[in-house]
Amino acid sequence: MTQTAKEILRDVFGYTEFRGHQEETIAAALAGRDSLVLQPTGGGKSLCYQIPALLSDGVTLVVSPLIALMQDQVSALEQLGIDAAYLNSTLTAVQQRQVVERLESGQLQLLYVAPERLMQERTLELLQANRVCLIAIDEAHCVSQWGHDFREDYLRLGELRQHFPGVPRMALTATATMQVRAEIIERLELADPAQFVAGFDRSNIRYLVQSKLDAKRQLLDFLSAHRGDAGIVYCMSRKKTEATASWLAAEGFDALPYHAGLSAAIRSEHQRRFLRDDGVVIVATIAFGMGIDKPDVRFIAHLDLPKSMESYYQETGRAGRDGEPSTAWMVYGLQDVVRLRQMVDGSTANETHKRNERVKLDALLGWCEVTECRRRSLLAYFGDTLDEDCGNCDVCLTPPEVFDGLEVAQKILSAVYRTGQRFGAVHVIDVLLGKDNDKIRQHRHNELSVYGIGGELGQQQWRSILRQLVVLGLLSVDTAGYGAIQLTGKSGPLLRGEMDLPLRRDLLLARKAAKSKTKPKILAIAEEDRDLWEALRDCRKRLADENNVPPYVIFHDATLMQMATEKPQSPEDLLEISGVGQTKLDRYGPRFLEVVRLG
Ligand code: ADP
Ligand code: ZN
Repeated sequence: MTQTAKEILRDVFGYTEFRGHQEETIAAALAGRDSLVLQPTGGGKSLCYQIPALLSDGVTLVVSPLIALMQDQVSALEQLGIDAAYLNSTLTAVQQRQVVERLESGQLQLLYVAPERLMQERTLELLQANRVCLIAIDEAHCVSQWGHDFREDYLRLGELRQHFPGVPRMALTATATMQVRAEIIERLELADPAQFVAGFDRSNIRYLVQSKLDAKRQLLDFLSAHRGDAGIVYCMSRKKTEATASWLAAEGFDALPYHAGLSAAIRSEHQRRFLRDDGVVIVATIAFGMGIDKPDVRFIAHLDLPKSMESYYQETGRAGRDGEPSTAWMVYGLQDVVRLRQMVDGSTANETHKRNERVKLDALLGWCEVTECRRRSLLAYFGDTLDEDCGNCDVCLTPPEVFDGLEVAQKILSAVYRTGQRFGAVHVIDVLLGKDNDKIRQHRHNELSVYGIGGELGQQQWRSILRQLVVLGLLSVDTAGYGAIQLTGKSGPLLRGEMDLPLRRDLLLARKAAKSKTKPKILAIAEEDRDLWEALRDCRKRLADENNVPPYVIFHDATLMQMATEKPQSPEDLLEISGVGQTKLDRYGPRFLEVVRLG
């Protein structure tokens, strides 16, 4: 009797419904058609090729750039009772021979392989001699030279069309833009592919952006709602990741640094801890994250700004792959704006490239300052729309106060002008505040008409306004020199009062917001079920260690949570729980039922 995709979904994976375009994507593959699958991270791309693999004769090849991930993916499949293996340079000769034997005997259902390995003559010959039913190309955007993860060894994958005529190829990616999409189709030589494009909204992620006042204090406030959760804190520099990690450790978090300057051994140990243990916080530069497939990362915190909306979306996308509530939190300030502008302007890239980088950076900075639903404007950047405000971002939760900023802006511009456009933000603000210090006296700025005209606001508020004016292009920062604030072509109309200038009053508000409003919806466990939940987590951790896999490979949080709430009493009850399929029921069911019974 032949099984249907739906039956496999239920019996093997333990899920009742397909998500998004999974069903159509599977049907296209089974019908032998090439396809391009575009889904946000966590959308469930892997099932799109795993289910056809189980329904077809022959082996499904999965091309993946990330050798480090293959092992986890294969062990996750093995836990489901699926025959899967990988071929890469980490295997010994004996292990490789065993994989080849399984392939030749026809039992192997999925074979993961790195692109450079796949394109070797002898690998191609080996595979051609066996029956390949589908080729899935994961992280397909790596073929795009304009994308951010370009990989030379992806370029040759177009040749697969000649090597495996008639075998459908499925390209999968979470990268959105039309340009990258077109490049994937062209370079992989997909033939009239069916395209399955899902929306980019990650509705389980709460977006919180605050202006930077006392970053440490703010981070601690934020993390207080996330004790015991796994998360990533991104920082700009290596030094800062180390300092932040030790400070967080002193504050009682299981925090570890990660950056390219650490030895390979330390890096892989920290990554292993993050994957295998519950509740580890990694403090990292952007060197960390690519290929981290951990589904239960509960928060991403940015202590420094990423360089574009694309990076932000990718980095925050690592939160909540399992669909459970998660938070993307970020602080930014004038200093970030200046530093990032300097980085772009000071780079040695050609002018066109720099111009692109500037446009991208400005989009991000503008987004930080938005006064409308943050999710809506994030999605708009990627050409996606949202019908209603999301109710799950800082703007929706704590609408910022907007005020008429014309007068205060004119004061800043005048101070910049009168001091000769040669000074940085700190000095300009000191002049406005009428501070008495050496620098002011030395330049006789206490004799200027603008001296002390800004007493109505505090230093933080002036910084906020200055930052907004820089982002709006009404002031600029001399990035080649010492960060002097200068007027721009747009300053004139402002000085003459010929424009409206709504600004956000984010400062004092942000401090309060950090304490009260940012508490995320944490995993929904009732108080009385907490003990059982913890006991289930312990049981999962023991099984994970026994099997040498990460805990989430045994069961996801959502599955354990449902167990804690519904307290299944029999194997039949357990099968009703999402994420429990037949194989896992047989293997682990008794242990978990025991915990519930004792619970
Ligand atoms: P992606 O590769 O798109 O980031 P994955 O394939 O890793 O996403 O899937 C993300 C999570 O969603 C996985 O834990 C997977 O088991 C789960 N998932 C996928 N499809 C379904 C479904 N139809 N119902 C419930 N959970 C699903
Ligand atoms: Zn919103």
